[in-house]
Amino acid sequence: GPDLVCTLPVRVVVPTTEAMHTLGEVLASELTGGDVIVASGELGAGKTTFTQGIGQGLHVSEPVISPTFVLVRRHDGVGGHPGLIHVDAYRLGSLAELVDLDLDETMDSSVTVVEWGAGIAEELASSYLGVQIDRTANPEDDIRIVYLTPVGPRWQGVDLGFLSVLTPDD
Ligand code: ADP
Ligand code: MG
Repeated sequence: GPDLVCTLPVRVVVPTTEAMHTLGEVLASELTGGDVIVASGELGAGKTTFTQGIGQGLHVSEPVISPTFVLVRRHDGVGGHPGLIHVDAYRLGSLAELVDLDLDETMDSSVTVVEWGAGIAEELASSYLGVQIDRTANPEDDIRIVYLTPVGPRWQGVDLGFLSVLTPDD
């Protein structure tokens, strides 16, 4: 198959919850059916908050809430936008369990976001966007640093650098 193309991460400073929503929303305008996002970062980092922003950008009709207990939530596409498949892989031990969720049939027409997917979800797709969300040493801080790492042929020639200068809309 094609060699994996791995570009340098785009670093985004995200000061507030609203700014995280905005980041996901603006990123969504670049996304298309079949895209896979592998979101990582500790509990409370903002993976679900970021996914809510993607849901806003895709105009999904239901609120995007954490699929912690159901493992996967599917949001239908609206108005020609791709749908959203939102997976929480925290309690999944392997790629096999992820594949058991039967994502394949709908993935081509949806954006798939896998929280806690690092080390598992990359094998789902030849290309994916890694989204690493870091907190500061101070647990009181709202500020997050997000690293967007595009991997694979789908992202070749796609410049996400504009996201690093995103200004919060609040
Ligand atoms: P995760 O899915 O990574 O466990 P959540 O998105 O569920 O994290 O929770 C993140 C929490 O942190 C939310 O309550 C959110 O409002 C809050 N928060 C504060 N500042 C930020 C920020 N800059 N980015 C994202 N979330 C933030
Ligand atoms: Mg979450």
